[in-house]
Parts: sequence; C-alpha cells; structure tokens
Amino acid sequence: MVKRVYFFGDGKADGDSSMKNLLGGKGANLAEMNKIGVPVPAGFTITTDVCTEYNTIGQEKVVGLLKSDIEAIMKDVESAMGAKFCDKENPLLLSVRSGARVSMPGMMDTVLNLGMNDESVLALAKKSGNERFAWDSYRRFVQMYGDVVLGMKPESKEDIDPFEEIMEAAKEAKGVDNDNDLDVADIKDLVLKFKAAVKKKTGKDFPVDPWEQLWGAICAVFDSWNTDRAIYYRTMNQIPGEWGTAVNVQAMVFGNMGSNSGTGVAFTRDAATGENVFNGEYLIDAQGEDVVAGVRTPQVITTEGSKIWAGLTDVSEEERAAKYPSLEEAMPVVYKELFDTQEKLENHYSDMQDLEFTIQDGKLWLLQTRNGKRTAAAMVRIAMEQLKAGEIDEKTALLRQEPNKLNELLHPVFDKEAIKAANVLAKGLPASPGAATGQVVFHADEAKKYPVSILVRIETSPEDLEGMDVAKGILTARGGMTSHAAVVARGMGKCCVSGAGGCQIDYKARTLKAGGKLFKDGDWISLNGSTGEVYEGKIATIDPELSGYFGEMMDLADKYREIDVRTNAETEKDCKVAREFGAQGIGLCRTEHMFFEGERLKHMRTMILADDEAGRRDALKNLLPIQREDFKSVFGAMAGLPVTIRLLDPPLHEFVPHEEANQKLMADEMGISVEAVKQKVDALHEFNPMLGHRGCRLGNTYPEITEMQARAIIEAAMELKAEGVKTLPEIMIPLIGTVEEFKMQEQLVRSVADEVFAEKGDKIDYMVGTMIEIPRAALIADQVAEHAEFFSFGTNDLTQMTLGYSRDDAGSFLPIYIQKGILKNDPFQVLDQEGVGQLVEMGIDRGRSTNPKLKVGICGEHGGEPSSVEFCVRSGMNYVSCSPFRVPIARLAAAHAAIKSK
Ligand code: PEP
Ligand code: MG
Repeated sequence: MVKRVYFFGDGKADGDSSMKNLLGGKGANLAEMNKIGVPVPAGFTITTDVCTEYNTIGQEKVVGLLKSDIEAIMKDVESAMGAKFCDKENPLLLSVRSGARVSMPGMMDTVLNLGMNDESVLALAKKSGNERFAWDSYRRFVQMYGDVVLGMKPESKEDIDPFEEIMEAAKEAKGVDNDNDLDVADIKDLVLKFKAAVKKKTGKDFPVDPWEQLWGAICAVFDSWNTDRAIYYRTMNQIPGEWGTAVNVQAMVFGNMGSNSGTGVAFTRDAATGENVFNGEYLIDAQGEDVVAGVRTPQVITTEGSKIWAGLTDVSEEERAAKYPSLEEAMPVVYKELFDTQEKLENHYSDMQDLEFTIQDGKLWLLQTRNGKRTAAAMVRIAMEQLKAGEIDEKTALLRQEPNKLNELLHPVFDKEAIKAANVLAKGLPASPGAATGQVVFHADEAKKYPVSILVRIETSPEDLEGMDVAKGILTARGGMTSHAAVVARGMGKCCVSGAGGCQIDYKARTLKAGGKLFKDGDWISLNGSTGEVYEGKIATIDPELSGYFGEMMDLADKYREIDVRTNAETEKDCKVAREFGAQGIGLCRTEHMFFEGERLKHMRTMILADDEAGRRDALKNLLPIQREDFKSVFGAMAGLPVTIRLLDPPLHEFVPHEEANQKLMADEMGISVEAVKQKVDALHEFNPMLGHRGCRLGNTYPEITEMQARAIIEAAMELKAEGVKTLPEIMIPLIGTVEEFKMQEQLVRSVADEVFAEKGDKIDYMVGTMIEIPRAALIADQVAEHAEFFSFGTNDLTQMTLGYSRDDAGSFLPIYIQKGILKNDPFQVLDQEGVGQLVEMGIDRGRSTNPKLKVGICGEHGGEPSSVEFCVRSGMNYVSCSPFRVPIARLAAAHAAIKSK
C-alpha cells in the first residue's frame, strides 16, 4: 500500500533525512531531528507524491485517499503533545506549511494557529492565562487563513489587504500606532470584523470546524506550488514542476505567549562571510513570520553579535542592553540549550545549518533545520575550513561548491580610492556582499527600465522576486539579516543592504530621502553589501582578489579535474584575465572581432567593396601587418600555451553600414559615391545570413582572405620564435559541412605555411582543424578527421541548426517555451544533451574512429556552463573553452565531473 503520510514526534519518526525527495527538505529534517533527540513539536508530512496526485486526479479524490491515514496519525500527534484536535478544553492547534525538495524561501503558503474557533480561543486563554495572546492568535489565524485559503489577498499590489485596512482603522480610532497597543476588547472586535469581511467577499461564513480548516489549508499548500511566483522561482532555479511540494502539519508552539516566549532564526556559521560563529536573530513575544517579515527590529542572539550590530546601526551600549538585549543575556538557560543544539545539528549534518526555533514559556522547540543558504565567499570558506578541521574530505569540499555561484567572487568590488571620496548617504545591514551601482527604481516591475538598476523598497516580498533578479542591487529601509530581501539576495548572489533606517522611501512620489538628499527614479546610487553602506552616485569598481581560500579551492579542483580549460579571447587584456583565472590556452580566437574599429575596419571595407580579386588583395596587403601584430600579442600573452585561431566567420555585410548617414560617412572616407556604397551593401543582403555566405564559404570563394590570415598567423609565430617565444598555433576552419570544404581550406593554409617556411628558412609546429557546428559535419566526422587534427564543437551554431532556432531571434518565443515547460532550459545556455548532445557524441566517436589522436574541445557558450561542462567531460573531450570570467566555473565543474564519474 502506498504510504502517503509520515509521522514524527516524541523522539520517533517514520522518515529520515535521506527521504528529501518524498518528504521535502523540511519534512525529512523534522523526522531526522526527532530521531537524534532534538525537541521538535510532533506532526506529520504528506508526501510530494501526493502533490503530483493532487495535480493529476484532483482535490476531491486526494482528500478521499488521505482521510483515514490522517485521522489515524492525528491520534499519535495528540498523544505526543498531550492535547486533542477539535477539543473544547485542551485543543491541539496546528501549523500547515509547504516543504519542497529544495527550499524555496517565501514562495509558498503557510497557515498558523489552525484549529482556532470561538471555543478553542477560550480554552487557549485559560490554558495560557493570557487572554490577549489567545485572541491575538485567533485574529492572526483568521487573517492568514483568509488570505491563503479563502482568497482574501488583494490581486493587485495597489489594493490594500482588507484585513490590514480594518486593523489600521482600529488603530486610528484608538489613536495608537502599534498593534501591541490594542487591548483584548479591540482584538475581539477585530476577529468579528475580519470574519464579516470574509463573509462579504466570499459569501460564506468563516469555517469553524477544525477538520474543514485543515483540509482547506492542505489543499491551499498544494495549490501554492503552481502560483505564478512559485513557477517563476522554479524556472529561475531549474526546479522541475513534477517534484511537487510536501505538506507539513505540525503541532503549534507559541512564541507570542508573553515575555518568556520568543521566536528566531539562527545560523551555525556566518552565512555572509563563512566565519565559524554562531549567529542569528530573535524576537521576544513574537510569532513565526515576525522575524523574517522585517516589521519589528529583530534582536541578535549572541552578545558579541549584538554589540557588533549596535555599532553598525549607531545604537548606544545602554540602549542596546536595555532595549535590544541578546538572547544570551535575556534567557541564558534557553540560549545554552540552543547553542548546544546548533552544535549537535551542524556535527550531525556536517554542514552549516539554518535553524528556526520557538521558545514557548521558557521551553525551546526547533521548527526547522536545513543546510543554510550562503554567499559564494561563505560557501568557499566554510568548506575549506571544514576540510582543514577534518570534518569533510576533499571531494565533499569540492562538491559543496556550486560552480555558478563562483560568479559572485569573480565580479568587481568598489575601487578603494573612489570609495574614499564617496558620500555615504545611509547605513544599513550588510545583508549580501558585493558592490552595486545603478539607477534607482522603486517598484520591482520597473527594474528593467534601466540597463543597471538598484531596487529600493521599504521591504521586499516574494512578489518582488523577478525585479530583484533583474536589479543589480537591493536596498531596503526595514528588515534584518534574515528578512526576505536579505535571504533572497544572498541566494541570488546579489548585493543587498537591508534595514537602512535612515532611508525614507515614498512609493507614490517615487523618491528616496537619505543623507539629507532627495533621489528620484533614475538617479544613481551605489551599495556596498559587505559593509551596509549606501552611497551617492556612481562609483568605480575594480576586479576582485582571487587568493586565499578561493585559490586553495581552485587548486583542489585542479587536482581532481581531468580535462583542460581554455578561454575564448582575442585581446591581450582578456588573455591576461583568463590566465589569472587559470586558462590553459585559447580555444577560440574570433578573428572578426579584430576588424571592427579604426584603420582595420577601413581596410576591411575596402576589401569588401573591391570589384575583383586584385582589388581585394590590395586591401588585404594592408590588413596583413595589422593581423600579424594582433596574433603576436595574443601568442605573447599566452606564452606557449595552445592558441586556436579561427579564420574569418561572419557574413561580410556585418562590416558595412546599413543606415544612410553612416553609408555617407563611409563613402566620404573612401572617396567613392554613396550610390556605390549602397549598391554594394544591397548586393551583400541575404535573407538568411546565418545560413548564407559565411564561415569557410567565404574562404573557399575568396581564398585570398584565408591566405592573408594564414600568413599573418605563421609569420607572427615565426617572428616570436626568433625572439625566443614559444607558440602553439591551431588554425581553425569554421562552419564546414563537407570534407571538400575543409580539405580545400586546409591545403591552402598548409601551402601558405610552406611558403613562409621557405622564405624564412625555418619552421614551426602548427595544427589545422575545424569547427563542428553544422549537423552534417558531425555526421561525416570520420571523413573529416582523416584530414583534421582537431575538432572544436561550436555548439552555438550547432544548437541553432539542430533545433532550427535562430540564435538571434529566439528571444521572442524561448522564454514562453520555458515557462510552459516545452523546454526545460534555454538551449543556447544549457547544452541540449538529449538532442545536440547526440551529435556531439557521434562527432567525437566517428572522428576518433579514423583519427585516434584527434584533439577535441568545445568553444560554444556552453563551455562555461556547469552541466554542459560535465557532459563534455563524460563525452571524452580534451578541453572546454569559455569566456575569461567563466574559467574558474569550468575548472570546478570539470572537477565535479571527474569526482562523480568515479
Ligand atoms: C559557435 O557557433 O558555437 C561558435 C563558437 O561560433 P560563433 O559563436 O562565433 O558563431
Ligand atoms: Mg559559430
């Protein structure tokens, strides 16, 4: 029989931490915590498979399937907690939360205090001896249940939550600012008004039967798997829709039972820097979401951390100790138990944990533990320190590094000099490190308005996710280190300053007041997410330091990696950056990038405009010395490492102007008529240039271009040899689809090389190979490899031609395809292993069948994308090649592939 519901509580559990796929991350860890003796309120988990059933067979049937199981398990929960569901005297109240395989912070719905009604509120008041608390719990329940289950949440952001509106009116009528200033009578009145609002909007009474409430909440959690924001989050994080979410139903414990209660979030190490210090935030007399919602200023758990926080936020020691004491100071006994528990949990999971806890009347309960989300710097530091401490081994340390996350470490930080002169406008918390400079926007859906924007909000919410993703940095006026903005930004590796209280934000007027200045939509500001500082204007940035733990981790990756990592580069500067990042050669030097400016462009255009071969040769004579110098500088920068130079690839029309004004400029510059320019441009027009006169088709129709480029390469290498510099040129013929296309170009290159050798009375080693970027080339790879010394898979074009999607126009439908699940990923970013991958594998196998020594690499964009790199390793390539900034990512991904293959 299928087991759909798993119990946990009282030191026992049906599941354990290995069952994340079935029980979700939260459910699996709740079970595991029970088993290792951590205090966890009892409850049960409904599996992720049930979510899939729910989406296929529907709500009614699923409820039918679950009913008897849940009724039976509820009895176990009741006996573990010593309370009864639906009981009038001693009611068991529940929380209902989502919990997917991987955490999706704030994405799905939660209902707390379930089971509340006009009777249980009285029982809770009696039991707690706190009537206000009981009624406030009831009030919160009606509000949350109304929003999540009964659809009371406003659809548009402009509208106000109906419950908030009632609450505000109540406070205004009483002349108070704070929820806490409302008394029992006020709250009782609020409950009545909230229920009336539900009746008005839905036409039905608020449900009083706890079982009816429970089924409503369970179904609402399943429904929340498919909300727009959850789908967006899944798409962004490549989480398949079929995974589904589990539902965790758990006995409530209350952090808002008075001054001996509280709730908080803690990390076993610093999630921003990776430092091995226990840290976190809590609030006295508060419930669940209060800490993360950023509505009240949370207090810091440790005394040391609390003092640092006070320093950062300009709070005096007296004020701190009186108004914001640490948990260590306020509740030393509970603190000690929490400290010991976090140590136990980190040791058990041997990774940094992110904990949620509640203190109910002096008793500590753990509500959640999970591997904590962390910045890239923390990711590297934590694993390397754990490795040094002998807590994990080398392979685990490497597998703990998410290759794409390294991006965060490779990007610029503020220039030290520029920052000295900068004007600090405000100071908030250093929520997610890095530097960001951009134009201010106040609404998430406007983040795209500027090329680089900073999203400025009082606080963020899950609806802002897309805008947060687009913005360069995030600034909030409210909220702590565990606020929504902070957690999400760290997950995205995005710079964030949170809780900058000195910022006054007016959404309507679209203004930010800070440091005595007024900033409007579009004005420039800068953020330092590592210090919490907010600056006026644009600030220069510099490249980051790549030593320390990062360097050690990359060395470790190199120890396990079995294939080379090269770079795609054509300038000396890029070559240098790539070598600093560890590139072992150039996998693609796109020579066309060398023709797009100044004198070179002029000679190029003269060549294109020439009417015959003689005219073209004249122009090419001028290009030869320029190209030779280009190649010398690239070879020099790569100091003897292999350099793959691709012969001219794009259609010639890319080099001529298309607007009239520019055509006139060109005509003047070249001393010919505008008409002549126009005519030539028209003649070069192609309906489908990517499938037109480009690649080796240029070299085979205008062999003089290939001759010039081959000569420039060989002469550059020979001149360097004379200067004592080693070179390893690999000359690459683009876009072949037949053997003849390759052979003709190869022979030409070799005859030019022989000519140069004869002229100079010397020789150098070089190779001639080809790109595989047309499907036919992969199919006849055995024939091609009889002549080619190397293959480089140009997976940009290969993807374009295999899927039949234009690389330049796919933006009109790809995002929709991904959203609708027709495609899992953008195939131009993540290699389509199932389709294009077959051609790659076939190309390698067939090529090596006739040429066992064939050297194989990849130079399409996929060469720096982790899952594609792993595929390249598995398929037996000798190297991958990617843009300079992706080299470390590829090195790490290649190490992952080697470790996983063993
Ligand atoms: C490719 O097609 O994958 C490639 C690297 O060439 P380009 O992007 O220059 O067409
Ligand atoms: Mg190409």
